[in-house]
Amino acid sequence: MKKQILTAPGGESYPILTGSGLINTCGQEISSIVKPCRVMIISDTNVAPLYLEIVRKSLADAGFSVNTHVVSAGEGSKSVAVFGALLESFAEAKMTRTDLAVALGGGVIGDLTGFAAGCYLRGIRFVQMPTTLLSAVDASVGGKTAVNLQHGKNLAGLFHQPIGVYCDVDTLQTLTPHEMADGAAEAIKTGILGNPDLFSIYENGNPLSELEDVISHAVAYKSMIVTEDPEEHGVRKLLNLGHTPAHAIERMSNFVISHGHAVAIGLAMMTRAAVKRGYLESDEGTRILHTIARNNLPVVCPYQAKEMAEIAAIDKKAAASQITVILPEKIGRCRMEKIAISELEALFADGLEGQA
Ligand code: NAD
Ligand code: MG
Repeated sequence: MKKQILTAPGGESYPILTGSGLINTCGQEISSIVKPCRVMIISDTNVAPLYLEIVRKSLADAGFSVNTHVVSAGEGSKSVAVFGALLESFAEAKMTRTDLAVALGGGVIGDLTGFAAGCYLRGIRFVQMPTTLLSAVDASVGGKTAVNLQHGKNLAGLFHQPIGVYCDVDTLQTLTPHEMADGAAEAIKTGILGNPDLFSIYENGNPLSELEDVISHAVAYKSMIVTEDPEEHGVRKLLNLGHTPAHAIERMSNFVISHGHAVAIGLAMMTRAAVKRGYLESDEGTRILHTIARNNLPVVCPYQAKEMAEIAAIDKKAAASQITVILPEKIGRCRMEKIAISELEALFADGLEGQA
C-alpha cells in the first residue's frame, strides 16, 4: 500500500491511497478522516455488479449509513440530466452538509460525482475510488469535475477537491486491454513530462505487474503540479501534452477513437514535431515512439494537418488567438510554447511528417 498526500489550495491536504484490497477496507480508511455519517455511493452499471456490495458493506461495517445511486455506464452519463437526477437523489436521501459522496468507478463517475457534490447544498465532501487506470493516474486526482453539454465536453463543472482517493489496484484486473491502454497513454504522458522512472516502466518493464508503482509515480507528479497551480493558470497546462491534437482526433473520429488512444497519437505527433524543430534529440524521440507502440497504442494519425487544425481552432472557440502547446525536450522535461492558432497547422504537419 502506498500513501501520498496532496496539498490542495488553501493548505488543505488529502490522502491518496493505492494498494491491493482497499475496496474491503475503505470503510475503516474513510472513517479515519470523516466521522460516520450518511454516504451516497455513486457507481455505474458495469462497476456496480462487481464492486458495489463490497464497498457498501465496508462502509456500513465502519458505521456509515449507506445509500447507493447507479447510473448507466458510459460517457453519456456525464450529462446535465443525469447530474440533475443525482442531485435529487442526494436530496431524497436527506443528505446534509456534513455527509459524503463516494465515487466508485472510472473518470465518468468521478467527474459526475465531484460536480454534483460540489453543487449540492453549495458543496459537500466526496471521495474518489477510481476503478480504471485512466482515472487512477489522472482523473481522480486534482479536483477537476464536469459534465458535458450539447455544445461540447466538460463545459459545465467546477474545481472541487476530493477529501481522499482510494485506488484498489485489484479492481483494475477486470478492465479490457483497450481500457488499460487508455490509462497507459496518460501514464506515458506523465513520464515524458516529468518522471523518467515511470517512463522506463513502460519502455522496458512490465506495467501490468507494477501498477502500484505506475499509479504512485503518476499521482506524485500530478499532485506536485496541482499543488503549484490548482486552477490551470500556468504549469498545470503541461498536463495537456498531446491533448490539442488528441481532442481534434477524438472529435473527427466521432469519438470512435477513445481519449487515451487519441492522446497516444497526440504524444507521437508532438514528439516528431519536437525532433523536427530541434528541441528533442532524435534518439529520445525514437524511444518515445517505440514506448507508445510497445504498449498497444497507436502512433499514426489517420487525419490531415489542415482539417485537424480547423477542428482544434473551433475547439478553442476563438476565445483566444493564441494557444499553449507542449513539446518534449527530453524524457522527463517538456516546454510550453504560446503560438498563434494560425500556426497550429504547421505544427501538426511537422507532427505527421515521417510517420509510417
Ligand atoms: P469510464 O468511467 O467511462 O470507464 C470506462 C469503462 O470501464 C466504462 O464502461 C466503465 O463502466 C468501465 N469500468 C470502470 N471500471 C471498471 C472495472 N474496474 N472493471 C470493469 N469495467 C470497468 O471512463 P474513464 O476512461 O475512466 O474516464 C474517462 C472520463 O474521465 C472522461 O469523461 C474524461 O473527460 C474524464 N477525465 C477527467 C479528468 C479530470 O481531471 N477530472 C482527467 C481525465 C479524464
Ligand atoms: Mg487526458
